[in-house]
Amino acid sequence: MAGVFDRLGEAAVAKALQELQTPCYVLDEKVLKENGQVLSDVQEHTGCRILLAQKAFSNYDLYPALAPYLAGTEASGVFEARLGREEMPDKEVHVFCTAYRAKDMEAIFNYADHVVFNSISQLAVFGPAAKSAGMSIGLRINPECSTQEESHSIYDPCATGSRLGVTRAQWDKLMTEGVYSLLDGLHFHTLCEQDAYDLETTLNAVVEKFGQFLPDMKWLNMGGGHHITRNGYDVARLEKIVKETADKYDLQVYLEPGEACALNAGYLITTVLDVTENNGIKNVIIDASAACHMPDVIEMPYRPPLYGAGEAGEKAFPVRIGGPTCLAGDVVGNYSFDKMPQIGDRLIFGDMAIYTTCKNNTFNGTPLPDIHVLHPDSTTTLVARFGYQDFKYRLGSS
Ligand SMILES: *Cc1c(COP(=O)(O)O)cnc(C)c1O
Repeated sequence: MAGVFDRLGEAAVAKALQELQTPCYVLDEKVLKENGQVLSDVQEHTGCRILLAQKAFSNYDLYPALAPYLAGTEASGVFEARLGREEMPDKEVHVFCTAYRAKDMEAIFNYADHVVFNSISQLAVFGPAAKSAGMSIGLRINPECSTQEESHSIYDPCATGSRLGVTRAQWDKLMTEGVYSLLDGLHFHTLCEQDAYDLETTLNAVVEKFGQFLPDMKWLNMGGGHHITRNGYDVARLEKIVKETADKYDLQVYLEPGEACALNAGYLITTVLDVTENNGIKNVIIDASAACHMPDVIEMPYRPPLYGAGEAGEKAFPVRIGGPTCLAGDVVGNYSFDKMPQIGDRLIFGDMAIYTTCKNNTFNGTPLPDIHVLHPDSTTTLVARFGYQDFKYRLGSS
């Protein structure tokens, strides 16, 4: 499993990246395949099937690189389902949507093979048509078992009052025999960047609340948030849990990680535009924006790894790095360097393949970064470049 910046130590890679116009994302095909191999091994050892959750990573130029290692894709709605069908064809397409729109269902049935509903009411409304269309049908359950830190409550589907998944109380109140008979599988998604121990805790809650239904099911989808490709993740533990569950209930287990598929498989290369000082704080302003190009830095929040930089107080030159927009909070984070960054220097952020390109925006009319692929042989290919039209067309009649 790769460290964040392992490949940047290779001279040929450093040279290739030095020549790219900034800001740009660089997607690392080699790291992606290494992640794929880890996931492929888990499938081989356990018999589970692993899907790419496209909401985390949907740079389809790289789907052919990942496809050999995966069983298919997972989609959050009709567009991602279509993308999965088009760009990773001949593989499974699963859809989970918190609430489906009636007008999308026909298209979804066209692209998908597994459809997961978030409520018994939606299952009752769309389930019969889904069954006629040949879909394998699932229901998302909510085991009401929070395993995440409270500071991450935005990512906790088990938080009190959550709209995600059916609780046992809702199930007992609303489930009918007719609706139940539509079900092929159950789905839960409760984790975010977590290890196998939290899955185990969650699974105990699932079994306690919904275990009686598992023998009737063909499959159980354990969602995403499994940080399987992170250094130190307890893969053996995951494999044990998955295999035991599959054997005990005689069902197919699915996992649908997003992050783990593309963890550390991308960089955001930026250039320093200005350096200012306010009350002793050195503000380094770069040509990429936290708000536009790494939105999870603000939403989650987290501080992304930066090549060559230390923790805030670690090295001689402390700086605060921010973007070019007018948002006061468009700050990437506090770092420190051995020497003060200068205008024109390049700063390279790591782990930038996930929740970035598929989530970025043009707030402030900020241009979207180019997207390149870095191949295993250290060459790069430009796969997307954006301009004024990409900003304008979403705003009006052009
Ligand atoms: C977000 C999400 C995933 C992927 O989560 P990661 O944290 O990226 O692994 C999988 N399934 C569902 C239903 C999700 O909402």
